[in-house]
Amino acid sequence: MPATRNLAAASAPLVLLVWAACYVPEAGAILPVRSRSVVPSPAALARGSGATPPATRSSPLFSSSSSDNASSAGRRRRPRAVVVGGGPVGLASALVLSNPPHSYDVAVYESTMSGDASTMSYDPTKAFLYNVNERGMMLTRSLPSVQSKLVERGVAMGGGSEILIVPGDQNEPLPETRPIFAGGAKGSSSGGGGEGEDEDEKAKSYWIPRHDMVKLLYESVLEHNAGVDEGTGTKDNGRGRIEYSAGMECMGVRPVKADGDDGDEVVEVKLRDTSTGETQTVTGELVIGADGWKSAVRECLLNGKQNFHHWPGFNHRRFKVKQWISPASGLKFKVLQFPPKFKIPNADGLPPKTTKSTDFHAIRSIYTGPLKYVSFGQLPMKDNEAVRPTNVITRPNHEIWGLRTGEEVREWFQRAFPRLPFGKGDSTLVPPEEWERFATSNGTTFPPCQRSPGLAAYCGGPEGGTCGVALVGDSVHAFPPDIGQGINSGLMDVVWLDRALRGVDLITGEKREGSAAPSNLGEALSKYQKERGPEVKALVKYSRFGSPYQYNQPLRLDRLGKTVWTMNVALRLLLNKITFGAFPSAAILMAQGADLTFRQLMRRADIATAGLLSMAIFGMWSALRHLQVVGRLVQVVKGTVGM
Ligand SMILES: Cc1cc2nc3c(=O)[nH]c(=O)nc-3n(C[C@H](O)[C@H](O)[C@H](O)COP(=O)(O)OP(=O)(O)OC[C@H]3O[C@@H](n4cnc5c(N)ncnc54)[C@H](O)[C@@H]3O)c2cc1C
Repeated sequence: MPATRNLAAASAPLVLLVWAACYVPEAGAILPVRSRSVVPSPAALARGSGATPPATRSSPLFSSSSSDNASSAGRRRRPRAVVVGGGPVGLASALVLSNPPHSYDVAVYESTMSGDASTMSYDPTKAFLYNVNERGMMLTRSLPSVQSKLVERGVAMGGGSEILIVPGDQNEPLPETRPIFAGGAKGSSSGGGGEGEDEDEKAKSYWIPRHDMVKLLYESVLEHNAGVDEGTGTKDNGRGRIEYSAGMECMGVRPVKADGDDGDEVVEVKLRDTSTGETQTVTGELVIGADGWKSAVRECLLNGKQNFHHWPGFNHRRFKVKQWISPASGLKFKVLQFPPKFKIPNADGLPPKTTKSTDFHAIRSIYTGPLKYVSFGQLPMKDNEAVRPTNVITRPNHEIWGLRTGEEVREWFQRAFPRLPFGKGDSTLVPPEEWERFATSNGTTFPPCQRSPGLAAYCGGPEGGTCGVALVGDSVHAFPPDIGQGINSGLMDVVWLDRALRGVDLITGEKREGSAAPSNLGEALSKYQKERGPEVKALVKYSRFGSPYQYNQPLRLDRLGKTVWTMNVALRLLLNKITFGAFPSAAILMAQGADLTFRQLMRRADIATAGLLSMAIFGMWSALRHLQVVGRLVQVVKGTVGM
């Protein structure tokens, strides 16, 4: 596929950069490392703040020497995990790994800085909203502090959100808002997001801005640390500490021997302080790559043949991502910031409608042409005082991306949306600075559908591995957000990793008859690879067909694709209804709950596709026979060959 090749070519400089940073052993495969460790107390961390990361940009929890790791007060030696990436999946991993029965001391390293530029601050370039659904909530519900914050700060689907679709033509009256279909349940019109137990029971999912999700996980980390006891003597609640360091970028990962050549093998992570450029190394038994779709950890495994070759079964090629293009891949995305609440003018004589932060809004333009059509999208938010990010998502060759100044953009949007007050006066919806910011910002591009066939690597093999690396979240699988599974599948990786480490069934979380907890890390990581790998494969296959036309992509080919996609979904739904559920429903509907794994879902979807194809072939054959075309063709052929 040429588009896939282009993408691979585009990512080549990144691969080279990371490759250059990955270690090549100087003498032999395994080198000892020495560095000093500073372990801040949990109380100091907890004092930091409830909202932003601690002021220290870097204070590594782990040295390479295991004896340094226990404090002078004789704190119990715990296994150590290093999490690369302080996004939602990295922080969720840290919380799970630091709790019993794993009880790791965890160090999280995030490349962005603390303060305003942190992943916990609102950033218009990353102002998308997560929809944490029943899959993602399998993890959040296992961490009560996280779940209660999600319920409190998210907008519950099934709790009353509505959608207003605003027509482009200003002379057309505004329609009534409609309840939103929430994964099998119609939203009641009882009010905003749910709070408390009952609403949580009913809620199918919660909408929450990305930075709020990261922030609530970080706050849970602080609460977790406040509850860590020192683990000395007999008193030990089994909680490891979590330390978060911002402004620290992972440059490389390799295996080393702890304590010189005498100790067990551990994994070393090389970090660069992004403000001073200084580098340092830390080690852990387990390294988690949660550093997003351009993962440096994954690239180090891919390019780390020399470093990891002595790990039994290690195959660097498994970490080469496989990519596919979906109709939503490559779409360009920018946010235009609207006020929290605003009035949408109505047709002559009718009262305007005031927006609600917990509602969805789709505001259409008057343009319909392939390179002109555009629409504004707003997703539900709990905070009705916060800026309302308005999504503009379209093809990269759309004419708006060619506009250079704020004034050009304002004029263009005023023509496209005559209903909205985008004038120059005081009553304008968007001030001049915001038009300028929009015009000059780079925007983001939706990723391809991609997966890494390799999810884990471990020393000693499944029989005796004491250290290893596991990938979670976007570092393993990434796709455009149309199927709404980005955050959820990342959180599910953590759930499955947790289950693999505990030695329970990865799908059900229950103890299997006669199964025992894994005897070592290698065994657990091998299970994670073996069982999560096929699930990721099915997920990424689903992401290519799930709902790729929901952005109303403007090209003629897109519109044709959307018609075919809609007919396909409608046909599956119809067959599902008239066969009383015997024929599988459309994949996008089967994915709504968490009852099916993606493997089960795709198996059903593939059976349905095979059924539809068989029906189509049989239908054509019958029609041709009916028209006696086949008989005549046979006669013609017989005549031609002189039979
Ligand atoms: C434009 C866009 C819109 C999206 N919209 C949605 C949506 O609506 N719903 C949804 O569920 N998903 C959406 N997604 C996908 C979603 O963002 C991801 O699936 C989700 O954030 C994955 O979480 P993660 O923690 O694995 O990775 P990320 O959120 O990418 O976090 C990775 C973290 O690692 C850090 N990092 C990266 N490299 C390094 C390094 N070398 N060293 C240290 N730290 C590093 C990054 O700064 C980042 O904080 C969207 C994605 C994009 C690009």
